[in-house]
Amino acid sequence: MTKQIRRCPWCAAPVPDPSGPGRPRRFCKRSHRQRHYEARRLAAAQGLAPDEVLISRAQFDEWRDRIYLLEAALEDAEQDLGDAPTLRDYTEAFQTLYEAASRTRAFRLEARALGAE
Ligand SMILES: [Zn+2]
Repeated sequence: MTKQIRRCPWCAAPVPDPSGPGRPRRFCKRSHRQRHYEARRLAAAQGLAPDEVLISRAQFDEWRDRIYLLEAALEDAEQDLGDAPTLRDYTEAFQTLYEAASRTRAFRLEARALGAE
């Protein structure tokens, strides 16, 4: 059986298991607990459904651009590895994919409002 990793409901970072007695922490930081609370309040004020999230236009555009770059890198890699690829082809494909994945990983999508879980 694999151990379930607890994740912060705000940023999805792993939350360490409690070392002592008491209720286990739900958030990785106190500030994330506060931001989650504020996002939930705004969602309620805006009438967001439980499965809805509100993000800024800039964040949405940025996220879409990064996903597009990742898709393009994957398509390039698939093309480069099509016919009898060499070790050099694999290395270049990996580098291209790694760079695109790193840019995507570095991005933090942050909700303004978050529907109830
Ligand atoms: Zn967090």
